Amino acid sequence: MVAIFDGHNDTITSDDYALIATGRAAGHLDLPRMQAGGMRGGIFAVFASSADHDFTPVQRPDGAMAVEPAAPVPHAEAAEFAVRAAGRLLALERAGELRIARTVADLDAARNGDGPPVAVLHLEGAEAIDAELESLDLWYAAGLRSVGPVWSRSNEFGHGVPFVFPSSPDTGPGLTPAGHALARRCAELGIMVDLAHLNEQGFWDVARADLGPLVSSHSAAHALCQASRNLTDSQLDAIGSSNGLVGIVYACKFLRPDFAEDIDTPLELIAQHAAYVAERIGVAHVALGSDFDGATIPAPLGDVAGIPKLLDALAQVGFDEQEIAAIAWDNWRRVLDAWWR
Ligand SMILES: [Zn+2]
Repeated sequence: MVAIFDGHNDTITSDDYALIATGRAAGHLDLPRMQAGGMRGGIFAVFASSADHDFTPVQRPDGAMAVEPAAPVPHAEAAEFAVRAAGRLLALERAGELRIARTVADLDAARNGDGPPVAVLHLEGAEAIDAELESLDLWYAAGLRSVGPVWSRSNEFGHGVPFVFPSSPDTGPGLTPAGHALARRCAELGIMVDLAHLNEQGFWDVARADLGPLVSSHSAAHALCQASRNLTDSQLDAIGSSNGLVGIVYACKFLRPDFAEDIDTPLELIAQHAAYVAERIGVAHVALGSDFDGATIPAPLGDVAGIPKLLDALAQVGFDEQEIAAIAWDNWRRVLDAWWR
């Protein structure tokens, strides 16, 4: 079975997170279904939601569909929430159900079936970190190995990209001075900087800092779906020349040319985005980034247990066995190794 490393899930902050080990009745991901789908590792996000955020797009005067900007989450509130959510992951490790990946040796062990699957601890939006970065070392010690400075809202570190269609990702200013400092300090410590929810300015801010391979953990190609959250060809080119990667997201609305939140979306669209990115910048820069438990994903895929169907779809668009193994695991290993040192 092909070993799968998945670049993004929101399972640990789902309401029924307590059932991850034994199996949840709903949602996309738990340990039994990970095993069924061949998923041996993944990036597990800690995400503090804005109060009462409504994801229903409304039509703007210019005709574009947009989700209202999410309210900022105060640092103290995000920090309390994130400590609890990360604690859930550490408790699963203590119980022997999974291992928090702190080194690439942990990734390799999981790939080889030696011990439980690995989880990379990720902050999706760095609100939980103080702007002076005093708490970042503590988070590193707890196992934090990936940070997205912003989610799709503003915080002390920068401005996230709002959900707009059709729209360029160039929606406003990028990183603040604190955001630049955060990205630099993450690179020094060996924490990957994830560009997934940054707007285009923020993307180029990180690119210009030349800290490591450019990584967008759960995104798709703007050429195939003109959503502000997707990556333009010039962003893809920069990702390729930095030896980074795109984790292709499975969220229906970012895959479809019409941005519809329609669960009846063919899973072949995921393979088409993968093929587009591979054609443009090479298969070494394509990986998986589901957004399980954080998005509506194609019904024909269902959940993580359906991954073998996605591997078939990747073969259908022309990827060979070795390329599929790279997309499924090796490319993620390469970029994490580069950031973690
Ligand atoms: Zn996300």
